[in-house]
Amino acid sequence: MVMNLDHNLTKQIEEICAARGVRLTSQRKQVFELICSSRKASSAYELLEALQQSEPQAKPPTVYRALDFLMGQGFIHRVESTNSYISCCSCNAHKHFSHLLICKQCSDVTELQDETLVSSLEHNAEKHGFKITNHVIESHGICQTCSSETKRETVKDYAR
Ligand SMILES: [Zn+2]
Ligand SMILES: [Zn+2]
Repeated sequence: MVMNLDHNLTKQIEEICAARGVRLTSQRKQVFELICSSRKASSAYELLEALQQSEPQAKPPTVYRALDFLMGQGFIHRVESTNSYISCCSCNAHKHFSHLLICKQCSDVTELQDETLVSSLEHNAEKHGFKITNHVIESHGICQTCSSETKRETVKDYAR
């Protein structure tokens, strides 16, 4: 069921949870592994369907509770514009804001962390006496893989 999974990631979050004294239940762990096994962002519904293959009794609240826990620990991020979830590229990090690049063709999501971008947004807001408490920085477009595939196909078309 779970493919391309980096077991080190699971081990890493197991250790972090142990150090923080929080419980990584098997369902929470499975939801995390499902999110990690996909390059594209997963919706709660997709996660529920996948989880039900091993845990037929799993219900939507099971998934939402696991997602809340994983987000609270900083292991995953919610992609607001597509209402889906990705694993964080630096699970061990403190709470951070990231800039997400979302491919509209393959749904691949790349997480970037750019402190200068965040501080420049904060700086601009401060000029208006505004204190930012949360950011959603998401860009939509075409990823490198998809744009090189499009190019290859164009070349093929010309060769015909
Ligand atoms: Zn992150
Ligand atoms: Zn793509």
